[in-house]
Amino acid sequence: MTIVYIGLGGNLPSIAGAPEATLASAAERLASLGRVVRRSRLYSTAPVGFASQPRFVNAVVALETELDPRALLDALLGIEREFGRDRSFSVPNGPRTLDLDILLYGTEVIYGTALQVPHPRLTGRAFVLAPLSEIAPDEPVPGTGQTARQLLEGLAAGEDDAVRPMESAIWRAS
Ligand code: AMP
Repeated sequence: MTIVYIGLGGNLPSIAGAPEATLASAAERLASLGRVVRRSRLYSTAPVGFASQPRFVNAVVALETELDPRALLDALLGIEREFGRDRSFSVPNGPRTLDLDILLYGTEVIYGTALQVPHPRLTGRAFVLAPLSEIAPDEPVPGTGQTARQLLEGLAAGEDDAVRPMESAIWRAS
């Protein structure tokens, strides 16, 4: 059994409804891959890299699983497709119904062509580090010599409103 941290994000409606409903349904689907042991709050976050799109909803879930990294990635890609993820129009950092990323897989470091862990863009992203630090502040991020909280604290301050926790009844109920 390994504890894996999975980042969830989306900013377009899916078959489940608005992004917060998508993330709530996706978190329930993640329970079929193991045992969800912690969940952050939802965060409303400003788009990064491609500004003319709606704000994102992001969260991080800790999953205890027996799946190996590649099987887990395949399962996550399958769940993204279930929620209507369409890669045919994709622009980097563009709008999407659901994005699922393996942020950390135990203490493993993986440099594959299809999979890199820790997630290669984890360290610079407040919208990932804020929810990760909420549920695992002291978790070491392999290869950085720092914990999730230290990485978050090391980021340059963004705009005030860039990453803000959301109150969500749908998320709490899921
Ligand atoms: P995207 O959903 O656009 O962020 O990219 C998904 C693709 O990134 C997948 O098809 C994976 O092959 C690749 N990838 C590499 N590392 C990871 C990771 N740690 N978690 C999820 N996808 C990854």
